[in-house]
Amino acid sequence: MTAIETPSALTSSGLRDRFGRVIRYLRLSVTEKCNFRCHYCRLAAGEGGEPRHDPLTTAELVRLVRLFARLGVGRFRLTGGEPLLRRDITTLLAAMLALPGVEEVSLSTNAYLLAGMAQELRNLGLRRVNISLDSLKPEMFARITRGGDLARVLSGIDAAVAAGLAPVKINTVVMGGINEQEIPDLINYARGRGVLLRFIETMPIGDAGAAVMGRHVPAAEIRARILATCGGELLPVSQPVGNGPASYFRIAGLGVDVGIISALSQHFCDTCNRVRLTSWGDLVLCLGREDRVDLREVLRSHADDATLCDMIAQAILRKPRGHEFAASSVSDNISPHPMASLGG
Ligand code: SAM
Ligand code: SF4
Repeated sequence: MTAIETPSALTSSGLRDRFGRVIRYLRLSVTEKCNFRCHYCRLAAGEGGEPRHDPLTTAELVRLVRLFARLGVGRFRLTGGEPLLRRDITTLLAAMLALPGVEEVSLSTNAYLLAGMAQELRNLGLRRVNISLDSLKPEMFARITRGGDLARVLSGIDAAVAAGLAPVKINTVVMGGINEQEIPDLINYARGRGVLLRFIETMPIGDAGAAVMGRHVPAAEIRARILATCGGELLPVSQPVGNGPASYFRIAGLGVDVGIISALSQHFCDTCNRVRLTSWGDLVLCLGREDRVDLREVLRSHADDATLCDMIAQAILRKPRGHEFAASSVSDNISPHPMASLGG
């Protein structure tokens, strides 16, 4: 990738960064709050990294989404923290989907509250949902999430499928000595439910992420474990839906596809088409770097739409080439921001 000279990020094809990548996707962390405290995402109570409680309002979020859509960003994801904890989440979803240029709004959730909301979300126009599920053993699930109730999450997944949300993707962060033994069980579970499973390498994001890097299992080992336990071959297949960071494989022995997201061992920065918004309005240009721009102050200074659009376009020019996580375990390049503020 070579930096190209661009006076403005705004081109006829949309927001283009210095490396020629066109930005089409915005992930919105709509709250830092969460009802779980997954070990890889948040520290234990009292150990620090407490969530901020000053999120942007619905009106501010909708305005920003309207402007991003005007700048050619068509895909949005509601994430967090736990986005379903936000009381206005259905209002926000409906308002976003009504905006011109918004092609899709998807959701990342821990599914704890999903059973009671899946049908309403589907009726409002939600389709794609990603759900975290790191264990099928109630005690281990409670340990990883520090108190999460597996049965509620599984009924949330069932409700999502029954409501017709699709695709439903399950995200499993693989941790050595914690849940890596469950890889075949999780594959069978996803196969039985007709949902798509993706294994994620731990990332050194925030203090909690750094703390679990000793449990890091690289993608090659995840693949080896799938092969050893599920048999057959692992055949690369193209992305079943969308253009995300996962590599997909068909497990020949089972005829089922799985994804692997390996931010560290096989990073996907060259094709990155996304930026992130924290719950309080910082535009984050890269998951693993410091570069960010405070949109909230300008938003609250009665700036007009043109000023905000210009600020967003200028910010895109600050998107770095890629993250700087070391290729193995803990490093000095840990992103200091909690994952809940970045939304995954
Ligand atoms: N609460 C929702 C959930 O758990 O899906 C949405 C927010 S969560 C921050 C988004 C994603 O980030 C989840 O799939 C979670 O597993 C992942 N994640 C959080 N911390 C991580 C870490 N240190 N390394 C890898 N993935 C992480
Ligand atoms: Fe909450 Fe999701 Fe982070 Fe777990 S990964 S603590 S569910 S925000």
